Amino acid sequence: MPDRSGGRAPAAQMAGSDQSFAIALMQHLVVPTFVLDAEGKVLIWNRACERLTGVPASEVIGTRDHGFAFYDEPRPCLADLIAEGRIEEIEGFYSAYDTDASSATLGFHVENWCRMPRAGTRLYLAVDAGPIYDEAGHLVAVVETLRDMTVQKEAQIQLEQLAAKDALTGLANRRAFDERLEAEWRRCQRGGQLLSIIMVDVDHFKTYNDTYGHPQGDTCLRSVASVLAGVAARTGDLVARYGGEEFVVVLPGTNSVGARVVAERIRAAIVALDMPHAASSAGKCVTVSLGVASADPAKLAAAALLAAADQALYAAKKLGRNRVEVAGELP
Ligand code: GH3
Ligand code: MG
Ligand code: MG
Repeated sequence: MPDRSGGRAPAAQMAGSDQSFAIALMQHLVVPTFVLDAEGKVLIWNRACERLTGVPASEVIGTRDHGFAFYDEPRPCLADLIAEGRIEEIEGFYSAYDTDASSATLGFHVENWCRMPRAGTRLYLAVDAGPIYDEAGHLVAVVETLRDMTVQKEAQIQLEQLAAKDALTGLANRRAFDERLEAEWRRCQRGGQLLSIIMVDVDHFKTYNDTYGHPQGDTCLRSVASVLAGVAARTGDLVARYGGEEFVVVLPGTNSVGARVVAERIRAAIVALDMPHAASSAGKCVTVSLGVASADPAKLAAAALLAAADQALYAAKKLGRNRVEVAGELP
């Protein structure tokens, strides 16, 4: 049951002073709110804040020890950083810092995952905090309000994950591949590492569909996908569906010798699945052809490496399929 007494009880007490009226209003505000004085001590810790954190006001009022209500490690809250004038440190403490919505006059807006030890919850909170100055321009208080955004954040994460996945195979889709390749490319550039790409294409897949039907074709693609994910499973390895019956594997920090080994493992693992493909000229079962290319990302563009892997794949097809070809020396 929501606490409905707040609307009436404080009103009855209000007649006293303006200040106690204001405090009573804040106590019963439905938005979790706390207020620090200029020394960073808790002046107000309202009911909604008690409910959110599981920490009663009596435990924190007059102290600077309110951080434990939101975090299980010692660290400042947004209001602490503002009270202490540590504005430039805000960004480092939060997963999102809205610099557009933040200023010394408007207040500051951040978002963060908070593990509230007392409440035993992990919530994604939107946090707004702003300083209050007296007429002489001295800081008198900092007000911090919190909003539970967990449901929205989780929905957003799910949507992003869904948008990055290929629906048939569950692998990264082309869009996610483009993004991840760019990120890995830059990482290898910084770290002075090589990067390899393997393009994988199912042999005579059109005739597979023609022979066994499209649904069986889909099942076959799922099996190929799980082999790829199983073989290229090192941290940083990326397997994606590049399109149709074509897949791509990115191996950061791997040279062409290592990439050829991975490609050969993939080829052999697909053969080992022994999925019948009666109409194939490359063998009695489903096979794949693979093109490998490696480069130093500091010396080449990603598109050029992809093109080289594609050419190597084309060569593997021409040389009879069910084989690995490695592109010639790249810079
Ligand atoms: P090659 O050995 O030269 O690669 O010959 P191929 O027949 O595999 O190549 P081609 O590009 O002619 O045909 C690819 C086929 O893959 C045609 C297309 O219908 C099929 N395909 C593409 N995407 C899917 C899919 O999601 N499911 C199924 N079942 N088939 C697909
Ligand atoms: Mg094919
Ligand atoms: Mg193809």
